[in-house]
Amino acid sequence: MNVRARNESAWLLPNDGTRTNHRLRRDMRQFADSDEIDLVIVGCGAGGSVMLQRLARAGWRVAALDAGPFWDPDTDWVSDEAGSHHLYWTDPRVIAGSDPVPMGSNNSGRGVGGSMVHYAGYTPRFHPSDFATNTVDGVGADWPLSYPELRPYYEQIEQELPVAGERWPWGDPHGYPYRPHPVGGNGEVFLRGAGKLGITAKVGPVAIVNGRFGNRPHCIYRGFCLQGCKVNAKASPLITHVPDALAHGAEVRPDAMVTQIAVDSRTGRALGVHYVTGGRERFQRARMVAVAGYSIETPRLLLNSASSRFPEGLCNDFDQVGRYLMVQGAPQTAGRFDAEVRMYKAPPPEVSTEAFYETDAAKDYKRGFSIQTVSPLPITWAEHVAAQGHWGPALREYMSDYVHWSCLGGLCEFLPRPENRVTLAGEKDSYGLPVARFSYSQCDNDRALARAAQSVMEGILHAAGADEVITIQRYAHLVGGARMAEDEQHGVVDRYGRSFAVPNLYITDGSVLPTQGSANPALTIMAVAARTAHHLAAGLS
Ligand SMILES: Cc1cc2nc3c(=O)[nH]c(=O)nc-3n(C[C@H](O)[C@H](O)[C@H](O)COP(=O)(O)OP(=O)(O)OC[C@H]3O[C@@H](n4cnc5c(N)ncnc54)[C@H](O)[C@@H]3O)c2cc1C
Ligand code: SF4
Repeated sequence: MNVRARNESAWLLPNDGTRTNHRLRRDMRQFADSDEIDLVIVGCGAGGSVMLQRLARAGWRVAALDAGPFWDPDTDWVSDEAGSHHLYWTDPRVIAGSDPVPMGSNNSGRGVGGSMVHYAGYTPRFHPSDFATNTVDGVGADWPLSYPELRPYYEQIEQELPVAGERWPWGDPHGYPYRPHPVGGNGEVFLRGAGKLGITAKVGPVAIVNGRFGNRPHCIYRGFCLQGCKVNAKASPLITHVPDALAHGAEVRPDAMVTQIAVDSRTGRALGVHYVTGGRERFQRARMVAVAGYSIETPRLLLNSASSRFPEGLCNDFDQVGRYLMVQGAPQTAGRFDAEVRMYKAPPPEVSTEAFYETDAAKDYKRGFSIQTVSPLPITWAEHVAAQGHWGPALREYMSDYVHWSCLGGLCEFLPRPENRVTLAGEKDSYGLPVARFSYSQCDNDRALARAAQSVMEGILHAAGADEVITIQRYAHLVGGARMAEDEQHGVVDRYGRSFAVPNLYITDGSVLPTQGSANPALTIMAVAARTAHHLAAGLS
């Protein structure tokens, strides 16, 4: 089906130099709390917005409540690192474990559009093997659905974002709807170094418009993708799914923090959600609830929704909520070149390789990693250098040398482990709710993967001609915490995102992923949500 006939968002944006269809927002349908709507969605990010758009199109009475604002790129975003702090979810969280994961800019967003507002824009698919790592490699978990079942939804979302890139030779080989972007200095370094070593690297795949798409303009290569693209060239649900949802009668309720999911103690069915907006506590009734608050907030909300019927937390009778939370190991390697690279002069996502994605029998670890250009702006570059231990005059020298540096990032498939989980901490947030405590520890396989990715990245930069390379260890992305499984003893939801415990409660965000591959997760999250929405809209549940 023609993409516009399925999702008209890009054509609903203004064509007059502004970025937001204010009429659509002003005329948006507004439900009363007392209306028993068909579906209330918690969170309007990658997973929540796809549900909203698909079910609004199917004629459902549907509303998405998001804790953050309804962004207007013209007035709310700036092309400036320091000025973009308000895009992140910075509410307090407790981190623990032997390898704690810092929270904030690098792994969470707040507001309509979710974390994709300031995500980088890489949109690779998972490989078929990601859906059966236990069977294929004896580690991780098998999904209760297979890659071929998800393929049609990958194809739909790739058209709707839309994705630009070279034909992809890895996983299930496929092409992209838009041709690859031209590359900047950092991409050239990666292609040169990889070429010298015989490593295949490709341009893309990125959800950045290459050419015009509806009323969305072409990328202008200024490199502020991680600050929220003011141009509307980079895809986020704010522009790819929300406009079409509004045009089809959905409501988006911003600045509405959901505090609890209410369940009828007699029937065990969800009744709606308690939320706080403008300092007032309210309750939205609904026939069905979908939670899409991202991997930390989704399990936290379930745990905070304990009741007499679910004393250990909603859907937590088998102690599965919050478990198997995953982050990817993301070592970052920078190389210095005599010639200027000026890595900031392009979108950070440019070139990547998945040549090391699958298990290599010759190695002492299972699964693999991908490598991508990352191109930090100056503040993030200062963090990289400082993390290396440089301070004072040495830090100043590295900073003034910024234009000579190139930077690559690895994404390592750290394995899902039950002890890596969210629980509730003793501390409370400004709503009086216990905050999330996220405990994370690596295993030997994880550490071996990070070492291997570092070694390949350093090799590529040296082969490209770097005279100095420096690597720091970091994390990227969050998935899992309410995973899908065959039964309630191994997960929280079934293959369609329906919770085992509450028949009219769905989870439709990254929390449901049982494994993470070494691919960036947003496309897969959207594809899984599109599949769940299709299932619901077709009346199959
Ligand atoms: C810096 C950065 C770079 C990234 N780069 C990439 C990339 O290049 N490619 C890629 O694929 N992925 C990338 N990601 C990850 C990607 O953005 C996320 O995986 C994806 O957005 C997660 O989707 P989600 O639906 O689970 O949650 P989100 O998109 O984060 O949406 C969750 C929404 O729920 C809201 N919310 C949470 N709790 C509540 C509550 N109680 N009540 C109401 N609302 C609530 C939040 O405000 C938020 O808007 C990046 C992320 C970051 C932060
Ligand atoms: S580089 Fe392109 S996609 Fe990134 S912020 Fe600029 S215009 Fe947007």
